[in-house]
Amino acid sequence: MSKRRPLVAGNWKMHGLKASIAEFGRISAGYDPALRAQVDLLVCPPATVMSAMAVAALGTRIGIGGQDCHPKAAGAYTGDISAEMIADTGATAVILGHSERRSEHGETDALARAKVEAAWRAGLIAILCVGETRSEREAFRALDVVRSQLAGSVPDGASAANLVVAYEPVWAIGTGLTPTAGDIAEMHALLRGELVARFGAEGHGVRLLYGGSVKPENAGDILSIADVDGALVGGASLKAESFLAIARAY
Ligand code: PEP
Repeated sequence: MSKRRPLVAGNWKMHGLKASIAEFGRISAGYDPALRAQVDLLVCPPATVMSAMAVAALGTRIGIGGQDCHPKAAGAYTGDISAEMIADTGATAVILGHSERRSEHGETDALARAKVEAAWRAGLIAILCVGETRSEREAFRALDVVRSQLAGSVPDGASAANLVVAYEPVWAIGTGLTPTAGDIAEMHALLRGELVARFGAEGHGVRLLYGGSVKPENAGDILSIADVDGALVGGASLKAESFLAIARAY
């Protein structure tokens, strides 16, 4: 089995105007050969600036990704964006099943699964998010919830090349709270075990990211946990300085 290459992905959510391309420029300026040798970087901006950012990313070796897609390739779906449209911008990945989509847009595992299939149809890497709520963790149901989300959201055909899974406890997103290292390790071991059981050697190659209040201050500790192959970063990805500091924690 080849070693998994670390990935630090930034989820800009609904932040970023055209002027933010300059921030991307600062990220690419800091992605020097030493850092490039260590870690892959991906920036997922709002759809409105994805094309411009994909152009800015040419030659930088930083990937650009979307934050959601519609399961269909085209059609009468006002306001939606297809995986093909995301790929058409030059982006190479898309975040799917984020807890903000699940909670605010009623996304189910079945819908997330259909979107992962759409991403693969368009040649994109699917970054699938799973994670328990606070009440689920307090009820000692976190492992069962995440196992079930993974089973329901990942279609057959997953491989190291087309899937990344991000463990994002809902209660840790944007709160400054993080699970213990033991809890992260336990969850990542579960994810790895499930992926290997279902996809064999490919399951060993799928990168597992941790997401939820990753900051420069805690990145070193989190990224050194077994089976944590990188981070999905929200708030701290908006500034080049903090995003790069997290990447350098490797
Ligand atoms: C996220 O929403 O994917 C996320 C990890 O956010 P934050 O880093 O701000 O907690």
